[in-house]
Amino acid sequence: MTGRENTALIAGGGIGGLAAAIGLRRAGWTVTVLERAAEPGEAGAGWSFAPNAVRAADALGVGGEFRAVSVPTEAGATLRTPDGGYLMRFRPGRDAPLLANHRADLHRVLAGHLPAGVVHAAAEVTGVEQSGSGVTVAYRTPGGSRTAHADVLIGADGLRSAVRRAVWPDVPGPVFQRILCWRGVTEPGAVWPVAGFQTWGRGARFGAHPIGGQRVFWFLTIRQDEPGRRYGDNLAEVRARIGDWHDPIPALLAATPAASVLCHDIFDLDPLPSYADGRVALLGDAAHAMTPFLAQGACQALEDAAVLAAELAGATDVPAALARYDRARRPRSQRVARMARQDPKVSLSTSPLTHRLMTRLTRVAGGGVAARKAARLWDWFPPTERAETSGR
Ligand SMILES: Cc1cc2nc3c(=O)[nH]c(=O)nc-3n(C[C@H](O)[C@H](O)[C@H](O)COP(=O)(O)OP(=O)(O)OC[C@H]3O[C@@H](n4cnc5c(N)ncnc54)[C@H](O)[C@@H]3O)c2cc1C
Repeated sequence: MTGRENTALIAGGGIGGLAAAIGLRRAGWTVTVLERAAEPGEAGAGWSFAPNAVRAADALGVGGEFRAVSVPTEAGATLRTPDGGYLMRFRPGRDAPLLANHRADLHRVLAGHLPAGVVHAAAEVTGVEQSGSGVTVAYRTPGGSRTAHADVLIGADGLRSAVRRAVWPDVPGPVFQRILCWRGVTEPGAVWPVAGFQTWGRGARFGAHPIGGQRVFWFLTIRQDEPGRRYGDNLAEVRARIGDWHDPIPALLAATPAASVLCHDIFDLDPLPSYADGRVALLGDAAHAMTPFLAQGACQALEDAAVLAAELAGATDVPAALARYDRARRPRSQRVARMARQDPKVSLSTSPLTHRLMTRLTRVAGGGVAARKAARLWDWFPPTERAETSGR
């Protein structure tokens, strides 16, 4: 440490921002999170996490509670066809289950690790200025415009990051991937138990994960050429497309409150030239937003947070520490984002030929291919564990 308090500002209080705040506080930093939303919290749907994310959560000291709000799901290794056939089946003892939870539950766990006063709600970052000795952030609150100063600024403000725009004004914005996604959560206990599965139709992919409170989180992704297309009744639209798919899909849709179904266009980012500039670094979707096809966006945000905290622990030279963070995180997260962009080109193809080939190949070689892909994605260890295992 430098002998005085090290201070960090974090723009954004999503999973990435909160995880970074937890990690930096553990590393001895005084942290302030500026969150645009008046009532911070993740909107009503679920998500799943692979072993790499759980290791990152352990490194951040939140692994126990993370597991406690999560439910194992077989959806990473059980692939079905719309008529109910199996392309691949989860093999107990051989396949690692993913952990699924409700976004609001995980947000509560992470927020619970931060003392009152760390997260400032209704605080929208609007500008960034760096000097040799620190970073000044301009932000808007209901009470007027303010500024804050710190030794480091972490831009964890998502896909349309204001920090990215301010510090990297020339990088291109989000790229629409011609994908639309609906998400829903069933009423507690209405369809239970569900082991978790995915179902591949031509140009449409459905998935279901059990989550806490005996609820099931489901999603449907389809090809969609124009961004911004919306449907009056989302649930009716989903039903019209997949209501005749195998059980328990009709029951899951029937058990979902219509008003709660979410509908989003899917964007990602082209690879950025750097995640760090002087005393500013990007993390999570702000750095590497990716399609949800590998379920790795939030997993990568947790990895980022664990590495950032390790690099800034005891750092006397902040820009050098952030440069190390960039070197450690950019190649891996951009490789994952590239795979996540590539995956739907095949798995969400509307071409009958591609779809037939894909399902045949998956039926024949699916288990092996999936295991190799999972190994590439999930084989990540936090810096401290890596240092121990490599004897450094
Ligand atoms: C349909 C879908 C399904 C997904 N499923 C999975 C999954 O199963 N597993 C997985 O690992 N990932 C999944 N993801 C990806 C995951 O949701 C994101 O990668 C993750 O939420 C990124 O977290 P983040 O904190 O970086 O950004 P965000 O969650 O976007 O949080 C950014 C925060 O910054 C705030 N903010 C924005 N602008 C400002 C500003 N100017 N000033 C202050 N605050 C600001 C926002 O209000 C928000 O709270 C999925 C994504 C989608 C779209």
